[in-house]
Amino acid sequence: MAARVIDGRDGARRVRERVAEGCAAFEARHGRRPGLVGIQVGDDPASEIYQRNKAQQAEEVGMTVERIKLPVGTTQAEMDALLDRLDADDGVDGMLVQLPVPGPLTEPAIAARISPAKDVDGFSPVNIGHLVRGEPCLRPCTPSGVMWLLDDAGVDLEGANAVVVGRSVIVGKPQAFMLLERNATVTIAHSRTRDLPAVCREADVLVVAVGRAEMVKADWVKPGATVIDVGMNRLDDRLCGDVAYDEVSQVAGAITPVPGGVGPMTIAFLLANTLQSAERRMGDEPTKGIIT
Ligand code: NDP
Repeated sequence: MAARVIDGRDGARRVRERVAEGCAAFEARHGRRPGLVGIQVGDDPASEIYQRNKAQQAEEVGMTVERIKLPVGTTQAEMDALLDRLDADDGVDGMLVQLPVPGPLTEPAIAARISPAKDVDGFSPVNIGHLVRGEPCLRPCTPSGVMWLLDDAGVDLEGANAVVVGRSVIVGKPQAFMLLERNATVTIAHSRTRDLPAVCREADVLVVAVGRAEMVKADWVKPGATVIDVGMNRLDDRLCGDVAYDEVSQVAGAITPVPGGVGPMTIAFLLANTLQSAERRMGDEPTKGIIT
C-alpha cells in the first residue's frame, strides 16, 4: 500500500497563518511589527533566492523586513560591528546571516557573535546549549519543522526507534536532541556508520539529512515506518531528496515528498522563531499552537 504523504506545503501555510495572527496581535499591542533582518554577503544566486523568499514571506505575515547586502571581502570585524549594531536596535527582533559565507568570514565566528536572543536560525552556541539542556530557546528551523510535521501527522514518538542520518549542526544534531526530548530512542548515523541500511531498517521514524540524491532505498526501510526526507538535491532536470521516493513510498507508512515536504517548513519556522523572539523580548505570552 502506498504511504500517506505528509504535506509540508499545507503545514507551512497553516504555521504562517498562526504567525500572521500573532504578528497582528503583536502590532496591536506594541504599535510596531516584529522586525527581521537578513544579511547576505556577496551575490551568490542561490543565497539571493533564499533571502528574497524569506523576506517576501516575512512581509506577507506582517513583519518589517530589512535586507542588508555586504560585499565579498567583508571582514569579521565589520560583520561583528553590524551584528552588535543590530543587537542594540530595539526594532530588530530577529537576524540571520545567509550561509555559507565567503572568507575571511566564518560560520563559527558569526554564530558566536550573533545575539542569542535574536538568533532566529538557532545556530548560536548558547541556543544549541539550551536545546541540549532541554531549555526554552530559539531552535534551528528545519528540525523544528520536522517535529511539527511528525506531531501533525500523529506519529507516536514515545519509545519509538528514531534514526537520524546526518550529524550537521543545523539539522542532524538538533533533530536528534528534539526527538530525544520527546522520548524517542535515537540513533545518529553518518558517513562512517557501519551497515547503514541495517541501521535504517530499525527505524520507526527515519529522518534523512545527508545531501545524496535518492540514497535511501526501499529495502532500507521498515514496513510502515515514517520517513522524513530533509535532503534537497538538484539534478539536471529536477529537484529530489535523499530518499528514493517512488520505491520507498511503497514500503513506508508515511513520507514527506521533495519538493513540498520539509523545505517549506523551514521558512515557516524562521517566521515562527522571529515572532517568538519578538514576543519574548517584549515579555508577551507566546502565540499558542505554533511551537510545541
Ligand atoms: P551537511 O553536508 O552539513 O551534512 C551531511 C551529513 O550527512 C554529514 O553528517 C555526513 O556525515 C552525512 N553523510 C554524508 N554522506 C553520507 C553517506 N553516504 N552515508 C551516511 N551519511 C552521510 O548537510 P546538511 O545537514 O546541511 O544538509 C543535509 C541535506 O539537507 C542537504 O541535501 C541539504 O540541502 C538539505 N537541507 C534542506 C533543508 C530544508 O529546508 N529542506 C535545510 C537544510 C539542509 P559526516 O558527518 O560523517 O561527514
